[in-house]
Amino acid sequence: MIPALPQLIQGELFESLVSRIGQRLSVTGRIGSRDLVPGKSIQGRVCPERLVASLVDPKWLSVAGILEENTVLPIYRPFLDEQAHKRFAQSVAQARRIPRIAQALVTTPRFCPLCREAEFVEIGEAGWHLLHQLRWMWRCQAHQNSLWEIGCVLANSPSRVVDSGCETRADLEVLKAIERDTKWLLGARVPPLGRLRWRAFHRAALTKRFGIQPPYFRVELFKLAHRIRPRPRRWLGLSMVSYMDHWLATVVATPQGTTDPLLHLAALRICGIKVSEAVAWVSAHDSCSPVNPL
Ligand SMILES: [Zn+2]
Repeated sequence: MIPALPQLIQGELFESLVSRIGQRLSVTGRIGSRDLVPGKSIQGRVCPERLVASLVDPKWLSVAGILEENTVLPIYRPFLDEQAHKRFAQSVAQARRIPRIAQALVTTPRFCPLCREAEFVEIGEAGWHLLHQLRWMWRCQAHQNSLWEIGCVLANSPSRVVDSGCETRADLEVLKAIERDTKWLLGARVPPLGRLRWRAFHRAALTKRFGIQPPYFRVELFKLAHRIRPRPRRWLGLSMVSYMDHWLATVVATPQGTTDPLLHLAALRICGIKVSEAVAWVSAHDSCSPVNPL
């Protein structure tokens, strides 16, 4: 059982909190051992449900609170159907295999030097922030400075500043806008709105902004994605050329749509639309409404 929690850090990644608990309990070896938490997820990792079950005082944390504050669930939720959201939330709570999250988070941890410094001064230790670990975030939203990617002593690679990958000022502004949208999603508690509504919204927005219309919708999307192709290459994190060409079609033209928040945010910002405005519109209309966004 866990007798006491370390001081909580706002926006901390769940795994970071678990790691700090492990350090506090002087546990050596792999986080998730039965010494730390009695019972593990099917993958052997400590999961939110098991962590909460291991607390001496259950008032300290709740599974719902962890999902909302310390995981990527709030960023994915607006783009999920009701049922998909339930399955997704359960998977996160039980740390089951979730490929989507693996796509969202970077593999080399990132940090903001100013956040670290402030936390060391305030509580004597620092945590890994959720927003800093999303692959399309390169600036700390609290301090507006570049994030750093942590180096590896064994590989003799020093820590270095994260490069946004943007080649023009206009691209940089789009990326900054997407970062602000991401931060907004994390705190906005948007309910699941469903893929069909989003698809209808994106279609109408692209028609309004670029004049793309049926019956050549897919062809026009392909041309548009190709025209802006160099721009989202780095910050969309796309490596497959075919996916690069079709990412817009993935968002707006495939029957299943997409649940990838970055693709939605990029499609919105290409049309100059804030996610908060889009959420307000999509929340107020169902998929059958005549679409005339914003
Ligand atoms: Zn910071």
